[in-house]
Amino acid sequence: MTAGGAASLAAATGGSAECGTDRPDWVEPLAAVLVRDGQDRRPATTLERADRIALRYASFLRWLERPHDAPGCVVCLKAHDWPGQFLFHTGQPTVVVAPQGHGKTNAASYLMELALGHRREWDVFTNVPFPWFEDLRGAVPAPPRLFAVHSATELMAGIANTVLQDRIPAVVLDESGQWLSSHDWRSGGAESWTKFTYVERHFRTRGPVLVYHTWKTVLEPLRQEGDLRGSYCRVIKVRGKYRIARVEDRSRWWVVEESALPYLTLGLRGFDMDLDFKELGSHLSGSLTAVAQQALDYLRELAERRAAEADQAAEGARDAHEAAVTNRNAAMARRDDAFEWRNEEIVRKFVEHPETTNGEVRGHYRTNIGGPLLARLRAEADRRREQVGGTG
Ligand SMILES: [Zn+2]
Repeated sequence: MTAGGAASLAAATGGSAECGTDRPDWVEPLAAVLVRDGQDRRPATTLERADRIALRYASFLRWLERPHDAPGCVVCLKAHDWPGQFLFHTGQPTVVVAPQGHGKTNAASYLMELALGHRREWDVFTNVPFPWFEDLRGAVPAPPRLFAVHSATELMAGIANTVLQDRIPAVVLDESGQWLSSHDWRSGGAESWTKFTYVERHFRTRGPVLVYHTWKTVLEPLRQEGDLRGSYCRVIKVRGKYRIARVEDRSRWWVVEESALPYLTLGLRGFDMDLDFKELGSHLSGSLTAVAQQALDYLRELAERRAAEADQAAEGARDAHEAAVTNRNAAMARRDDAFEWRNEEIVRKFVEHPETTNGEVRGHYRTNIGGPLLARLRAEADRRREQVGGTG
């Protein structure tokens, strides 16, 4: 699908032709969420536009329900022009760089739309915030075979389960400031990320397609190791239309249509690299099914280990608390002993020297001993003197 060759995709994906023939109940709430999400955009999303996007999504879902005729599909025919299959190489990342506000998330959503529509044997995993994963969970239907992932463990479990069902995993991850700041590309997190690209080959994963704001923020290891042979692309705008163009050869480009998958711009898009892929990789060997089972076993053991560690940490905290209570009780007992000893001293002083004033006692012990306590101690001294006098 080179220059000018992107026509009729909307028709092929059941685009505008069917709009208005069916209006599910969820179109209105979806449109409302899209207006709210797009109110700070320039231009802001109008209700008319949001309504059109929601209806187009309804139409796309209906198209997904029908069987896909690959030999007769014009998009599938033209997909041969794309590197990989719609940029989803097997076991190899594709980097797409698009400035914020220049179709970055739309490009990611559009690639997922192509994958869901034209590769029905794929399961697509993504961190792109779609409304049916967030605000409208349960209210708006999600496309079949599209799954939200927010961590490496979630992604790996999804990939392994897909493989065990004899299906093909595909991955699209939208870079975010949040993700980058917690996994700076100089840190071990980025290294673990590179290891993912080695591990994913065991599972014949398609992608990941990684979408970034700037080339500068692309993970350093990806830039250094020449892993992006032919799969480093940029989103550019030409005569009002977005294109994905190969960086090595700008004459190779594909039009990015407005995605039929409505996405949120403000949703949660982080991705927690909470898995050591190097360690996971060392547990994998054998057939596709075998490595999928090994990965699930590894994840289960890891979860158990982490739960045990959390228990241990909680136990440690409990022990520390008990020790603190014991210490405090001991300290209080010592203080009570000291008070007891002091009070005895005061009583003895009053017994031996009845003329002692309360002020002298306070001065001697350099503490603010309350009047009622001194009165009680003086009474005790009087009682003891009388006892001595009575027996004597
Ligand atoms: Zn097709």
